[in-house]
Amino acid sequence: FMLDAVASVGAEPLLPDAWGVDLCVIGAQKAMGGPAGVSAVSVSARAWERIAANPAAPRRSYLSLLDWKERWIDGGRTALPHAPAQLEMLGLEACVARIEDEGLETVMARHASAAAATRAGAVALGGGLEPYVHEARDAAPVATTLRAPAGTDAAALVAAALAADPALPLVAGGGALSKEMIRVNHYGADATRGAVLSSLAALGAVLTDAGRQVDIEAARRAVSKTWPSR
Ligand SMILES: *Cc1c(COP(=O)(O)O)cnc(C)c1O
Repeated sequence: FMLDAVASVGAEPLLPDAWGVDLCVIGAQKAMGGPAGVSAVSVSARAWERIAANPAAPRRSYLSLLDWKERWIDGGRTALPHAPAQLEMLGLEACVARIEDEGLETVMARHASAAAATRAGAVALGGGLEPYVHEARDAAPVATTLRAPAGTDAAALVAAALAADPALPLVAGGGALSKEMIRVNHYGADATRGAVLSSLAALGAVLTDAGRQVDIEAARRAVSKTWPSR
């Protein structure tokens, strides 16, 4: 049982052992607000057995879990088997320290609030914009997908919004979804009320330019109500 939890770690509870996950892979570049280029993997006893029994398992490689087990774990975790990615490791250390300062529960709550506020704000904004995921309980806390209004192009709307403010955490869906899906990546440093409000205001502005009727004030009120500032 392999779990890619890159989009979950830091944004929602993640309990690989309790869930019987054999290989759980995380990265720091999403909800943890850390560097890309480092990742961690947890390996269950069952997975170690399967990997060890596989004659084709990678060896003599940074990507060889068996090498890491023998040279790092079984070696008492004293010397890294390869030249470490120093800057990424220092970045990771700073990011973990920040999470410990804020508290993991608070970090997760911030992501849940960002998702709820983005969803409520998008509905209040109107103009034909709709949550892509029908039920709020099925939506991820790390990012909110929105359906672009019929007759508009999601990628064009996002491009226009980013032309006005390149720092907005907006992206269009990939591949076949590029015309219909807008994603608000409210994670890490962007899991804030400010990022949510700016994203909704920018979407409101480009929808207005596209001739749609939106209510940016109503969106603002919905965000404040869903995610009160205290
Ligand atoms: C973001 C993400 C990744 C990593 O992709 P990057 O291109 O490195 O950001 C992997 N898996 C999932 C589920 C993700 O959301």
